[in-house]
Amino acid sequence: MQIALYKNTKWLKAYSLAWKFVDFIYPPQCIQCRKIGYRICPTCWQQRIYFSEEICDICGSPLRKNSRCEKCATTSQSPDKIRSLGPYQGILRNYILAMKFKRDLGLPELILPDLVALMERSNFSFDYLIPVPLSKKRLKQRGYNQVAVWGVPLGKMIGSPLNTTILTQNKETTSQVSLSADERWKNIHGAFSVNTDQIRGKNIVILDDVITTGATLNECARVLRKAGARKILALTIARSTIKNHHHQEGGTYV
Ligand SMILES: [Zn+2]
Ligand SMILES: [Zn+2]
Repeated sequence: MQIALYKNTKWLKAYSLAWKFVDFIYPPQCIQCRKIGYRICPTCWQQRIYFSEEICDICGSPLRKNSRCEKCATTSQSPDKIRSLGPYQGILRNYILAMKFKRDLGLPELILPDLVALMERSNFSFDYLIPVPLSKKRLKQRGYNQVAVWGVPLGKMIGSPLNTTILTQNKETTSQVSLSADERWKNIHGAFSVNTDQIRGKNIVILDDVITTGATLNECARVLRKAGARKILALTIARSTIKNHHHQEGGTYV
């Protein structure tokens, strides 16, 4: 599907209005500066930093000019295209952590227009929207898949409901956060499975909060491709590097 044709602004307006009503009764506080009346106040939200158009046209990593990074120029990559809004730092990082740990369903509203714009400008055309799955154990501990917190409203907005049944995680894995780059690839290998033949010849978008080494998205793409998927795209809110990622999972967002 072409996103532009399905953009459902009515739905976002209704969603936004519903949250305005909730906020009237229980005023929120800005996750960064604690100002009352906002989940994130306009001043803090304006500080978010996004990537320019100067990125690798395959993996989306920032470059000095728009072309291909060394890795993508020399080896074939999986997924076919990865796009992220910006670096995993500052307000964007606090925002992702707040969605992950607070499960504040009013938060995703802020990022949805930016994500849709990124998908449009990256020519994302697809049949299924799929989150990176969590294992049953992790799902039970947390009670929800944090990607679904923004993936569900995103799917509603573009008219393609988030599909959480096509791809599942059946193997328990250690949290990728505590591992080195090499260990991450080994840890995640064989963790996912596809439970249907309905994706044969279809194009898929995989959603995740943050891309770090790319091991998780790569493994998702591998099994989806094996199950017959045609094109595999990936969308993440942020992009991190393993060097600064180690200190970030602590769950402290000011
Ligand atoms: Zn603020
Ligand atoms: Zn690249």
